[in-house]
Amino acid sequence: MKTFRMAWFWSVILLVVAGCGPQETATPPPTPQQIHEDVLTVDTHVDTTFEVMDPHFDLGERHHVEEDGSNVDFIRMKEGGLDAIFFAVFVGQGPRTPEGHATARERAMAQFEGIRRAVDENRELVGLALTPDDAYRLEKEGKRALYIGMENGYPIGTDLSLVQMYYDLGARYITLCHGANNEICDSSTDDNGAEHGGLGDFGRDVVREMNRLGMMVDVSHISDDAFYDVVEVSKAPVIATHSCTRALCDHPRNMTDDMIRRLAGQGGVIQITLVKDFVRTPPPNPEREAELAALREKYGDYGQMSAEEQEKAREEWRAIRRRYPPAPSSVAQVVDHIDHVVQLVGIDHVGIGTDFDGGGWVDDCRDVSQLPNITAELVKRGYTADQIRQIWGGNAMRVFRAAEATARGMKNGT
Ligand SMILES: [Zn+2]
Repeated sequence: MKTFRMAWFWSVILLVVAGCGPQETATPPPTPQQIHEDVLTVDTHVDTTFEVMDPHFDLGERHHVEEDGSNVDFIRMKEGGLDAIFFAVFVGQGPRTPEGHATARERAMAQFEGIRRAVDENRELVGLALTPDDAYRLEKEGKRALYIGMENGYPIGTDLSLVQMYYDLGARYITLCHGANNEICDSSTDDNGAEHGGLGDFGRDVVREMNRLGMMVDVSHISDDAFYDVVEVSKAPVIATHSCTRALCDHPRNMTDDMIRRLAGQGGVIQITLVKDFVRTPPPNPEREAELAALREKYGDYGQMSAEEQEKAREEWRAIRRRYPPAPSSVAQVVDHIDHVVQLVGIDHVGIGTDFDGGGWVDDCRDVSQLPNITAELVKRGYTADQIRQIWGGNAMRVFRAAEATARGMKNGT
């Protein structure tokens, strides 16, 4: 009996030692900051090209959002651990005439040139990226990867051959339209409503041409009917580069649950954006709305203005925002949208596209240096490092690769 007791005693001691030992020496779980640094982080939509086109703005210098309102530069990208970014070549919708299309094309070309110049001038910080692998390679070199997307297919006009020209200049996605209908499809926010009933005939050709080239088709901004047409026509999974969920914020720019299910069923991805009015429904503020409407009336289409007029309009817009500060918004609200997509269709179909420098930011993520706050919130909610890797770029890169694979398949006639 005594022997048995002693044996029991020693086995307990051994168990305690065995139990404690490994715990004391085990490596602690990675911190949110370590996870953020470890995963490839990709932001699929920013409008920093506006800054690129400003001769006084140097992307290689650190700027301060409180001082000049800018959300992105290469120094803050490094601080915020952002590895890859898509700069949008953006031309606002203007007249759909031969002259209008020619002007749009010139403006787009100038932006492609501007982006390449910004990369050339900052070679030690950033590299131009054209394939998914480029981002992983540049990350190893300690550089940021700069991709180009095109927001609004307006510069294509009615000339299908321009899709390839923009691809050759580096564009790897095209957002089919912007705030108004164009030759390709209907917009979700055109004041005059639908015109094509979704994707037009020319738009179908554009989607097929993008499939042939291996460009991602971006369904942000397009009307619901256009979305359903695109997923029908596209042979490759599609991307919404900067949209939120309509279930949490009822805005036409956001995607309904049915659309998200359809997108996921096709292998696509929705990149949740930081535009406050898509993240949460703001309380009504008629005075502010009236002043913003008057500003829009006064200046017309932003994308059609000269750089000088744009600066004046932006200054007046900032003044209105100072007079009527927006209702609170937070990273937690942004992550609510990520949670919603995950609950609806799983972890494989969601990512992040901030729309920095295009109106995207929330109170606790005001510029690119604060992106780790999103990772911290994801960790707080129990997402694993592998899931965060998917959200922060793995899913978007999968869609990018699928677009390339579709092009290869079409080339080989499979
Ligand atoms: Zn946009």
